[in-house]
Amino acid sequence: MIKKVGIIGGGTMGSGIAQVAATAGCSVKLYDTKTEALEKAKADLEKIMDHLVEKGKINSEEKQRIQNNIKYVNSLKELKDSDLTIEAIVENLDIKKNVFSTLEKFVSDDCIIASNTSSLSIASIASSLQKPERCIGIHFFNPAPLMKLVEVIPAVQTSEETLKISVKTITDWGKIVAVAKDTPGFIVNRVARPFYGEALRIYEEGIASFAEIDTAMKEIGGFRMGPFELMDFIGNDVNYTVTETVFEAFYYDPRYKPSFTQKRFAEAGYLGRKSGKGYYNYS
Ligand code: NAD
Repeated sequence: MIKKVGIIGGGTMGSGIAQVAATAGCSVKLYDTKTEALEKAKADLEKIMDHLVEKGKINSEEKQRIQNNIKYVNSLKELKDSDLTIEAIVENLDIKKNVFSTLEKFVSDDCIIASNTSSLSIASIASSLQKPERCIGIHFFNPAPLMKLVEVIPAVQTSEETLKISVKTITDWGKIVAVAKDTPGFIVNRVARPFYGEALRIYEEGIASFAEIDTAMKEIGGFRMGPFELMDFIGNDVNYTVTETVFEAFYYDPRYKPSFTQKRFAEAGYLGRKSGKGYYNYS
């Protein structure tokens, strides 16, 4: 039984995953190196909870219970009593490996150490651990509290026990699990690459504007968001990095070639909603 959950990274994904685990009754510790990130995560949760109370989805006791289930911590060591940790920090292999090997020194031998990576190799992340069989990919989608699907990705080193407990835990949290092999982009992010890439190419070839492409995909394709709205929602920095990783991991297969437009937007800080400007203006 997973009761104590440690989340590493209190940004978009980490804060959402913390909410999911806390709502399911787990005692959660949310760790980030930046105090501002923790303060934002706490303030955002308060707003979300108030909104859910207003809509009658939860009552004020439930709101209190969920909020009390999350502690905001600024030291990795505080996660030492976790049954499960889920890492949601920057999409960088070396940084993730570093955090994993440090974390392993604090936690018990049977703590599961998971990554929410969108595209990196779980086998490679697991190789940073003394006990790589406890490592697994648990990939939530954004926004984590609303998106039902979670991909669970066992690495070649992952034990059956780690996989079984992970699938059960995520299912108990009310999610739908798709188990996928440890390959670049897993299922959804691989299928989604051409969705973003082709939309960017259509724009770059001067065929249509961001808004026209988005409208076409929503009206005809039946998508809830167009590709540019979705990239702004995810963050152009995060989305670009995932494309770059998938492209490299598939030995530079042109099907996954990243776009210069997106690269320049990310470099300029036009990250999307989180920075107030991306393909659209949000301020
Ligand atoms: P984000 O930039 O919103 O948040 C990352 C957080 O990690 C920041 O608050 C940062 O301060 C913190 N951080 C960075 N290095 C740290 C460290 N060494 N220790 C502790 N905290 C650290 O990023 P995000 O969008 O939440 O993405 C996090 C992970 O989740 C990435 O691996 C990403 O690929 C994956 N992911 C993102 C999405 C998405 O739509 N944004 C969806 C699924 C998976």
